[in-house]
Amino acid sequence: MNLEGFVASTPLREYKRVVRHETGHTLGCEHEHMRREIVERIDHEKAYAYFKKYDNWSRKDVDLQVLTPIEEVSLIGTAHADITSIMCYDLPASIMKDGKAVTGGMDINASDGAFMGKIYPKRAAAENVARARTTAKASKTRRASKRGSSRDEAEGSEGRTPP
Ligand SMILES: [Zn+2]
Repeated sequence: MNLEGFVASTPLREYKRVVRHETGHTLGCEHEHMRREIVERIDHEKAYAYFKKYDNWSRKDVDLQVLTPIEEVSLIGTAHADITSIMCYDLPASIMKDGKAVTGGMDINASDGAFMGKIYPKRAAAENVARARTTAKASKTRRASKRGSSRDEAEGSEGRTPP
């Protein structure tokens, strides 16, 4: 996670974008702009110059952050790259071989939401919580009844009313 760029004057919109993007990483999301179908559209030399100028990134930074495609075989993802995903950087038309900008995402879009809903389904989570509570309750009841019966054996049935 990288929140180092925040200052008091960071616009709220940018703050939200970065926090949501970085949260995506904590949930296992890769950079969408590093999918092969986007990386193959980038002019490397123009990308080095662009990111040096605007972000002061070294060539190695650009290689790691932009130009190294994710291995699609190891990816659980949408069928195609989503250029408005919160996990996608914006790439200007000037560094793209086809002259078409990659807009990048400013917020969690519908596709991001649907995909994460598949990976982390609410219903399954709710069912797991309910199951865990039921199991905990059942084992607590079993423990209590076991304790009760062993106490009965040890102390006899004095003071207890017959059923
Ligand atoms: Zn990132």
